[in-house]
Amino acid sequence: MAASPIIVDRGIVLRETETQETDKVLTLLTWELGKIPVLARGARRKQSKFGAAAQPLAYSEWTLHQRKDWHFAGDASTQELFSGLRGDLAALALGCYMAELTEAAAPDAVPVPELLRHLLNGLYALSTLHKPPALVKPAFELRLLCLAGYEPLADACALCGKEDPEEPVVDTVQGVLRCRGCGGGGGRPLCPDSLAALRHIVYGDPKRLYAFRLGEEPLRRLTAASEAFLYAQLERGFGTLDFYKSIL
Ligand SMILES: [Zn+2]
Repeated sequence: MAASPIIVDRGIVLRETETQETDKVLTLLTWELGKIPVLARGARRKQSKFGAAAQPLAYSEWTLHQRKDWHFAGDASTQELFSGLRGDLAALALGCYMAELTEAAAPDAVPVPELLRHLLNGLYALSTLHKPPALVKPAFELRLLCLAGYEPLADACALCGKEDPEEPVVDTVQGVLRCRGCGGGGGRPLCPDSLAALRHIVYGDPKRLYAFRLGEEPLRRLTAASEAFLYAQLERGFGTLDFYKSIL
């Protein structure tokens, strides 16, 4: 058999699937190859050469061999394990949800560096900067939706054009901001503080995404609006989100 080309690419494990015996199929998100399944032979053995690189949320430099539609892992050198998450169940559960969301948003085998960067930055905010999971969650969700093409229109009421609606609501189906009195009923209510946070997340500098504070009630409103918007746009639930909520 002809030697298969060797590829070196950095990537994060979004998910692991245990296969027969001692192998793992990893869903990797890498810079060059995008989201790909990778077979890591022997990764379930205690003395596996992959070590910690083959666990979810580990970011490593991978040496891969491609054969037909499959990538096989040759070697891995860990770059960042986000070890700050491993001792904090809420942060770890949120990290797994962020990975599942990223997996849902990323197409197969197409480079999406902005999604990979967004996930790495979000995990860093949780693991190293110790940002509260409750604040990271809506910021991560809303920004991910923007990157995936579902950016909400949040600069003014979509119907009357008023920049600062007195009783702002997010129409989660249309993906727009409006006054409570404009248009039909429904929508998720915001308040001035939660609207300011929404705009910071959608329009602000991505490097400062998690650099905001919010009181308990505005954060609750932002969280509810973000989740409703996510469900309306992606039309599916997430097992890792159910788990995150179950441990709060
Ligand atoms: Zn209006």
